[in-house]
Amino acid sequence: MRRERGRRPRRKVCSFCVDKVEHIDYKDAAKLRRFITERGKILPRRISGNCAKHQRQVTVAIKRARNIALLPFTAE
Ligand SMILES: [Zn+2]
Repeated sequence: MRRERGRRPRRKVCSFCVDKVEHIDYKDAAKLRRFITERGKILPRRISGNCAKHQRQVTVAIKRARNIALLPFTAE
């Protein structure tokens, strides 16, 4: 019998890898919004759970989206 009570260390899996996303669309503001804080900051990887590859793409996509005013630089 194993004695880990409930709290097993669940491996966070990158949601983009799960969906087999190859390219993150910077125009998809609804999706990108899940990776920024209420104040408009990009979530760090350990919180978002993204893999390095996709986190980088998210970062780029968010920056791009900001430049065309799809996402705020900071919320106010
Ligand atoms: Zn990934």
